[in-house]
Amino acid sequence: MLYNEPSPLEVKVLTRRFGLPNSQSLDTYLASDGYKAFRKAVEMGPEKVLEELKVSNLRGRGGAGFPTGMKWGFVPRNSPKPKYVVVNADEGEPGTCKDRLLMENDPHQLLEGMLIAGFVVDAHVGYIYVRGEYRYVIEILDRAIAEAYERGYLGKNILGTGFDFDVYTHTGAGSYECGEESALLESLEGKRGVPRIRPPFPAVAGLYQCPTVLNNVESFSAVPAIIRDGGAAFAALGTPKNGGTRLFCISGHVNKPGVYELPMGFNLLRMINEVAGGVRGGKKLKAVIPGGSSCPVLKAEECDISMDFDSLAKAKSMLGSGGVIVMDEDTCMVKAALRIMRFYQHESCGWCIPCREGTLWLRKLLARVHEGGGTQSDVPLIGELAKNMLGRTFCPLGDAAAMPTIAFVEKFREEFEAHLNGAPCPFESKPVSA
Ligand code: SF4
Repeated sequence: MLYNEPSPLEVKVLTRRFGLPNSQSLDTYLASDGYKAFRKAVEMGPEKVLEELKVSNLRGRGGAGFPTGMKWGFVPRNSPKPKYVVVNADEGEPGTCKDRLLMENDPHQLLEGMLIAGFVVDAHVGYIYVRGEYRYVIEILDRAIAEAYERGYLGKNILGTGFDFDVYTHTGAGSYECGEESALLESLEGKRGVPRIRPPFPAVAGLYQCPTVLNNVESFSAVPAIIRDGGAAFAALGTPKNGGTRLFCISGHVNKPGVYELPMGFNLLRMINEVAGGVRGGKKLKAVIPGGSSCPVLKAEECDISMDFDSLAKAKSMLGSGGVIVMDEDTCMVKAALRIMRFYQHESCGWCIPCREGTLWLRKLLARVHEGGGTQSDVPLIGELAKNMLGRTFCPLGDAAAMPTIAFVEKFREEFEAHLNGAPCPFESKPVSA
């Protein structure tokens, strides 16, 4: 099965074709309003499409939450340079697996979103940069692209509109860093995947230094529904300034882990208890990482919160990529922090010292504390080291490693201290529930 059992609380906009027979095929897509939004966009013209996107309050689903309509509006449509559309499908944030499902189940929705973006900014070439581990997803995308070419939905003079658009898939090599937009562009150009200094931003100097619309899979996939049903209808699904729905990937200690499409602003506790079937084994909730491993952890008592960009920012965390990682009362927070740091140390591209050395030292310190070899000074040292990385690295990976560590230490300090001076991990003897 490609998709978990849906929840009755879901609002299916982007996932409405999930579970249909042959949901990947062009015929299924056409039978359920497919490519109508592109025809409508051509009738509306680029300016009105852009306006509709702004009205929708769609904010980038990759993690940063930047308003998509505004981002597309920065692309100089009349530039004499070629313009490009690039899809960030390098989904690598631990806890996140929604883009994979969108591409697996409804690849034409993504292609239509790209077509509309190309039409709006006058781009005629689009790339889908897919993480290397998603080999079979690339095959699905390539089949959908071939079908679209055969039936006139890609290529020259699409549907007689006079608009030309070509799409190519491109494989990453499995580097988390290449999910950072400027590193992705470097990699797409065939160079080492390290970030660029910004500004200029990709909207002005992106792929091959040309104006580029670069968005996440989920952002592009939302565009056909916005144009088809109107920006106001999409906006009304969410909260003010946080339009539409979001694909939340709920993992960890819940009874029904899965990807669920819920309105922006859905309450996190309800998400865990009513959508994901509650904490496994009747255990108590201890903590939740609300938006992928780079987001600061929330304690159980902070989880009665609206899942939108602004509410989570107010709670000093982030909505990020929508990866909700649930931890029960038996979870060791030192081990959780260590597990996350192992990932970031492995994925650090080594380009800048605070990240390359900082992640290494944090991993070593966290391992020492977890193994019982830590001393009293190690706990503040971990916090200080992480704080010294913040804002001092070339790309957001340094912050992504530092922010969760700071939150783990600040919110669960007593647990770190319980591991010191040779003490065994207080959770290792408890039944393993992970
Ligand atoms: Fe590379 Fe880390 Fe520096 Fe980003 S922050 S450029 S991943 S070393």
